Amino acid sequence: MLDISKIRDDFPILKRTVNGKPLVYFDNAATSQTPQVVIDAIVDYYSNYNANIHRGVHTLSQEATDKYEEARIKIQKHFNANQSYEIIFTSGTTHSINIVATGFSSILKKDDEVIVSALEHHSNIVPWQMLCEKTGAKLKVIPMNEDGELLMDAYEKLLSNNTKLVFVNHISNALGTINPIQQIINIAHKVGAAVLIDGAQACPHIKPDVQSLNADFYVASAHKIYGPTGVGILYGKEEWLNKLPPYQGGGEMIKEVTFEKTTYADLPHKFEAGTPNISGGIAFGVAIDYANAIGFENIQEQEQKLLDYATEKLLEIEGLKIYGTSKNKTSVVSFNIEGVHPYDIGTILDKLGVAVRTGHHCAQPIMDFYKIPGTVRASFAFYNTIEEIDVLVSAVEKAKMMLS
Ligand SMILES: *Cc1c(COP(=O)(O)O)cnc(C)c1O
Repeated sequence: MLDISKIRDDFPILKRTVNGKPLVYFDNAATSQTPQVVIDAIVDYYSNYNANIHRGVHTLSQEATDKYEEARIKIQKHFNANQSYEIIFTSGTTHSINIVATGFSSILKKDDEVIVSALEHHSNIVPWQMLCEKTGAKLKVIPMNEDGELLMDAYEKLLSNNTKLVFVNHISNALGTINPIQQIINIAHKVGAAVLIDGAQACPHIKPDVQSLNADFYVASAHKIYGPTGVGILYGKEEWLNKLPPYQGGGEMIKEVTFEKTTYADLPHKFEAGTPNISGGIAFGVAIDYANAIGFENIQEQEQKLLDYATEKLLEIEGLKIYGTSKNKTSVVSFNIEGVHPYDIGTILDKLGVAVRTGHHCAQPIMDFYKIPGTVRASFAFYNTIEEIDVLVSAVEKAKMMLS
């Protein structure tokens, strides 16, 4: 069992007040909070060894390069990638997906097919639509049911020898559903399709093993795993990363440049043009260490407790409906109160110190499925408490009273 009050001391922001009330931070699915060790790593970089990497012979540059590459290896081990150069540093999940989608525009042909799920974040929909527009490939959608689960029979029927690529999130950010990605990958591979897993929402809760999953691509953002914003990863199998063309041209990604021809650098640098977010990459490694020290089993146990309690207490409020009722879900509760706009609830909750997300959560197709404009989403992390959920529930009751 985790000592939550001790853990909360690791996160300075959790001590602040909002509108005169203690902050109750339930917007973890949008971005998680950052422990002091991660903040310290960023300050340490700028205070002691700020220099550009991979270029200089001088000491600071070498120190920065060593730390940055150590972080890559930490991340490789965490995701169990076969090689450290299969981990590409990016600015985040969105950037990672765009690297793959843009790369596939030189591989896909007219009448090839790609498959997305009904549960995706816009950043795992729009780049593929752009890809289809460019190539003439067709986009097909795995449907979902009322519980917010993908229909696996329908998925199998969508697959054919024309299917080249499937992209699905590991966990839905809007509903919290944990998708059966192992099964999704296995079935796709039977027809020779590659699979990209959007792990942005899964990584704070689950330690994915990309080799045992046999994922072709797995993408994530540091800021959802207790790390800084503006950094993330693209994991790709070596053979795929070699096959895809570089995304951006510039420094760092070349072997040799002449005006006649440029040859590209080896992995991972081929996809890392320009000066990266050096302190961010290093701090990402520290965040991964922090999460592993807490332990993913402990994280899951605490979050399950929070999810069960919040679900039970919120459902006691008359007229409150929860969207996303799969048995396989993480600590996200998306809900509405009959006759009340989610935005109005969110505004009142903020006055009471409770931070939640309202709206479509960058997943408008899910909202269209339920025929609603949006939801109120409370999303929990292991540093949240049962007492905070009591604050949420009474704040929602108050909002309901004021608004209906
Ligand atoms: C947050 C999120 C993204 C986008 O991540 P960025 O860090 O904004 O690029 C994509 N997919 C899912 C499932 C997410 O939760």
